[in-house]
Amino acid sequence: MKYTPELEGFRAQVRAFIDERLGPDLRNRLRQGFPASKAELQQWQRTLHERGWAAPHWPKAYGGADLSTEQRLILLDELFRAPAPIPLGFNVTMLGPLILAYGTEQQKRFFLPKLASLELWFCQGFSEPGSGSDLASLRTSARREGDDFVINGQKIWTTGAHLADWIFCLVRTQKTERKQEGISFLLVDMRTPGITVRPIVSIDGEHHLNEVFFDDVRVPMTNLLGEEGRGWDCAKFLLANERTGIANVGLSRERLGHAISLAAMLGESGNDVALQPWFLQEIAILDAEIRALEVTNWRLLVGDDERSAAFASVLKLKGCEMQQRVMVLLSKVAGPEGLEKRPSRGEESKHWAAALDPRYFYSRAASIYGGATEIQKDILAKAVLERA
Ligand SMILES: Cc1cc2nc3c(=O)[nH]c(=O)nc-3n(C[C@H](O)[C@H](O)[C@H](O)COP(=O)(O)OP(=O)(O)OC[C@H]3O[C@@H](n4cnc5c(N)ncnc54)[C@H](O)[C@@H]3O)c2cc1C
Repeated sequence: MKYTPELEGFRAQVRAFIDERLGPDLRNRLRQGFPASKAELQQWQRTLHERGWAAPHWPKAYGGADLSTEQRLILLDELFRAPAPIPLGFNVTMLGPLILAYGTEQQKRFFLPKLASLELWFCQGFSEPGSGSDLASLRTSARREGDDFVINGQKIWTTGAHLADWIFCLVRTQKTERKQEGISFLLVDMRTPGITVRPIVSIDGEHHLNEVFFDDVRVPMTNLLGEEGRGWDCAKFLLANERTGIANVGLSRERLGHAISLAAMLGESGNDVALQPWFLQEIAILDAEIRALEVTNWRLLVGDDERSAAFASVLKLKGCEMQQRVMVLLSKVAGPEGLEKRPSRGEESKHWAAALDPRYFYSRAASIYGGATEIQKDILAKAVLERA
């Protein structure tokens, strides 16, 4: 792929900024596959925010930098390449653009700067037991009492609810014939009495996910986003809006580079994985497929190809497949060390193989979150049939 000199110049600026501002310790831990702490994520997002790059596509007036899609893709690419933490998607790519589109001026002024700087950390309260792919069947309800909504019900699989200050929720405010109607979109302070967060430990042995229970939780009417009963419009906007990061090409490329570096490091101590035909073949195939995805991603997001509503599904499906295949490769490179050195929950480890198997296990979830693989294939099949 060929970038214009202006875009190459922008890339150089971003790379120099990251080199200057990102500490080597965090960078090394991310490279090994360990997660950043909450404090590190906040600090780094604040650093990016000072430069206008935490929410780069937002208008300058609300803390963004008005960057073009091309520049955004390059910025994201460089963050993954470093590797550096990526700004919190719930804040920056999901809720922020939604508030810009549907929020009152007061909501914009209050929330947007805090979302960009991570002064407020949001989580996403959409899924419920029994309502995931079929989201509109959700049952968490909110009734009006004076100037408040009163919420009762349960959310599940809420990533980072234990870290979050606020949650954005879909709740049923009316019983209607069409299940997509009568849903409202509320912004809820996690400190409100009646909210209980219960951890779910996932297959990697870590605590990312939660159940969130609402027991007569009072939320002021001013925290309604958009019109009452029209929350489904907000949900569709939010889910359809973010496509720039959906393929995560930079992540797959960075992980592939890490597999190659690890194999070289192991070679120095007599482990000849880097010379094995299966390894060389896998590297070559993954490299070619990641390049193809990179071009497709650019073409669909930036180019003037005719866009189908289904193109986001292509990026999600292929992006998810590439991430998972690279994680499998890393796990194979780690071999038995991956399992032997895997730390127990809460235990700190600096061993090069310690984080690889947990990340492999967690990467399986990419086929479920953000719209399950079967659902994406269904969307594609329908798009193909419509064109036939
Ligand atoms: C790691 C992780 C993080 C998540 N984080 C969040 C979060 O922060 N906030 C949030 O709200 N949710 C979150 N989710 C929930 C996620 O959005 C749902 O898990 C997802 O939408 C699938 O819903 P479900 O789990 O109810 O499965 P179901 O919808 O019950 O699906 C089960 C299986 O049936 C298949 N299936 C369902 N319907 C169809 C159909 N019509 N045709 C063909 N196949 C079908 C699915 O593809 C899947 O394989 C997260 C999930 C995971 C795994």
